[in-house]
This record gives sequence, structure tokens and C-alpha cells, in this order.
Amino acid sequence: MQLSTNTRHESHGLYPQAGSVEDFRRNLADVQARIAAACRRAGRDPAGVRLLPVSKTKPEASLRLAYAAGCRTLGENKVQEALGKWESMQDLADLRWSVIGHLQTNKARLVARFASEFQALDSLRVAEALDRHLQAQGRSLEVLVQVNTSGEASKYGLAPEELRDFIQQLSAFSALRVRGLMTLALFSAEAARVRRCFALLRNLRERLRQEAPAGIALDELSMGMSGDFEIAIEEGATVVRVGQAIFGARPLPDSFYWPAASGSETQESA
Ligand SMILES: *Cc1c(COP(=O)(O)O)cnc(C)c1O
Repeated sequence: MQLSTNTRHESHGLYPQAGSVEDFRRNLADVQARIAAACRRAGRDPAGVRLLPVSKTKPEASLRLAYAAGCRTLGENKVQEALGKWESMQDLADLRWSVIGHLQTNKARLVARFASEFQALDSLRVAEALDRHLQAQGRSLEVLVQVNTSGEASKYGLAPEELRDFIQQLSAFSALRVRGLMTLALFSAEAARVRRCFALLRNLRERLRQEAPAGIALDELSMGMSGDFEIAIEEGATVVRVGQAIFGARPLPDSFYWPAASGSETQESA
């Protein structure tokens, strides 16, 4: 799609800290309005885009304000942090957790305990470990497969050419409800390069959707964050993962989450 939507990666000026329920309500309404506007540009129904608020690094008090403003699912990048928050917020019985960061096999047991969704599946070892622990606990998990669409070594995810074989093998894991694909675009102020990552994910889905095994759905495209979600929506995102535009800028640089990205010339959110 030839649209000239820009990225917004200069996060600190743009995203003041949300400190009250009203702040969260306003930020959520602003983001929803931006989602709706991007949908209009792309001729899409806003009901086809789910907003996943991302609460990583934010303290429990902030998460509780977000909950009071209506958030019922929160995204967290790191398992240990998510687990701690889940444990201390048990009183919010209808709050669900989506783990959106890379998972080591030895932490699959923890994710199986508390998460409703895992968006960063990228190995059969992790799939097997999750499935085994989920079965033992009588639980299931919504799962997205992470794809590295930028070709950067710093990004997790399967290479596009590995995806077909990987998806064929996922039907062995009956506790995993495979819903689609997830990606992180290049961090770049060059919107055209960012857009290419999102378009690649959509094209992969179109190609692989027909031949996916029974029970494996490739409907969801989770792509786009505070700096680039409008471009992602124009390219077909069904889930956008938005942290800073809702919660406020993060104290930690993104290099904490994507270690090798710290030297990148386009990394501006630190
Ligand atoms: C932090 C994070 C996001 C959200 O980024 P923001 O800049 O806060 O919107 C999205 N996806 C993943 C995997 C993340 O770790």
C-alpha cells in the first residue's frame, strides 16, 4: 500500500508518564482514535484490530490504573517480570497476560502457569516444553509464531524460509492454539523500510495459510508498536502491541530487550 504514514520513534518527548486513571483513559482513547484513522485510510474495519497494552518495566501501581481504565489483557516481554506481576495482582481475577518476548525452554513451565497468550514462539523445543507443561496443568495457550522480517541478527524469530516446515510440525502440540504470526519491524525512521517488514509478514501468512495443518489458524498478524502501529495496520495488522503511547516512555532503553540492537543508528528510544 502506498501511504506516507511516518514512524514515531522519538519516544520521550511524545510519551509523558500516565499517572492517573484519566491519563490512561485519554491515552487509550488517543491510541484507539489513531487505530481508527489508520483503518479508514486502509479501508478496514477497526473491529478487526485488537489493541494489546504493553506494561513491561512499569510498576504494579501503573498496571492497576490501566486496569481501572479498562485494560483486561496486558503484554509483558520478560517472563519473570510477568510472573511477579501476575502473582501480586491475583485479586484482579479477569486480568489476562500475554507474553510477547523470547522464551528460553527452561522458563516454559512458568509461562504455562499463568499466561493466556504467547506471541514469540520460535522453536520446536519451546513448543514441546510449553505443550508438556500445559498438558500437565490442564491448560491451553493461544500462540503466535514470531518471524524475523527485518533480517537483523538482533531480532528473534524464525527466518521467513523456515516458517513453512515449522508450522507443519506445530499440530503435534495439542495444548497450543496457534493463531497467527508476530513480528517486530526494523527500528527506523524510514517508513518504507518498516512497511516492508510488515508487508512481508502479511505475504507469508497469505502464502502459508492454505496449507496449514488442521487446527492451525494463521488469521492473526501481531505487528506494530507505539512508533509504527499505524503503518502495521495499513499493512494488515490484527493485533498491535502498544506500550509507551499508553503508559508513558520507559526508563530502560530498548537495547535491554533487544540486546544487540544498541549500536543501531536508528535506535532512538534510549
Ligand atoms: C515493548 C514491546 C512492544 C511495545 O513497544 P512500545 O514502544 O512500548 O509501544 C511491542 N512488542 C514487543 C515484543 C515489546 O517487547
